[in-house]
Amino acid sequence: MTDAHVAVPPMAPELLVRARATKGFMPHDEGVALYSAATTAGLTGLGPLLEIGSYCGKSAVYLGAAARAGATVLFTIDHHRGSEENQSGWDHHDPSLVDSRTGRMDTLPVFRRAIEDAGLEAVVIAVVGDSATVARHWHTPLSFLFIDGGHGMAPAWADYTGWVPHVAIGGLVAIHDVFPDPAEGGQAPFELWSRAVVSGGFVPDEGASCASLRVLRRVSDRF
Ligand code: SAH
Ligand code: MG
Repeated sequence: MTDAHVAVPPMAPELLVRARATKGFMPHDEGVALYSAATTAGLTGLGPLLEIGSYCGKSAVYLGAAARAGATVLFTIDHHRGSEENQSGWDHHDPSLVDSRTGRMDTLPVFRRAIEDAGLEAVVIAVVGDSATVARHWHTPLSFLFIDGGHGMAPAWADYTGWVPHVAIGGLVAIHDVFPDPAEGGQAPFELWSRAVVSGGFVPDEGASCASLRVLRRVSDRF
């Protein structure tokens, strides 16, 4: 199976504009690559798309566009309390996302509005909870898994071991923020990607990858 045989329709112009305008951590070129890979996967009919790390909905707009193009849906998981790196005092903290009632992060209202404004409510399904907990109760094979949740070692590995087994053979796994050089970013996503490659269960798809967005095709049960 090669992607060359699958015609991916271009992402709708109004959704490109929406995605750019949405708060988040997804560079536009990587978002467009995410859309293309997820559309390719969705069109296989192997199952829905699933994202770990909804945050404010930016990547979910690219992936929601892909779900629509692939006649499937996106499940997107987040407890909406922020990762360690999103908390007050850390690099990726945004004070506007703090619930003044409790002092805790709450990205769910912003996420919800982003998906509403993009007109994607029919194809983007929010799952609010801890990723590893949802994974333990999940049974539906996936055509596409996007790992962009907690970037510390423990949460990243929990996402890999909990979710990769749910990806259908022939489906795709995309990992965000893969930086082989520690000077460029944290090493957990790169560790997951390296493990996938050496496991023998995946073939990297260089054509579908873009910058720190790395795409792999699942070819066997190993992971
Ligand atoms: N994909 C987003 C960015 C995700 S940031 C974008 O395009 O902008 C990472 C997100 O992972 C945060 O919103 C955080 O709340 C979530 N997260 C971290 N650990 C999690 C866990 N164990 N379960 C569910 N969500 C988690
Ligand atoms: Mg990311």
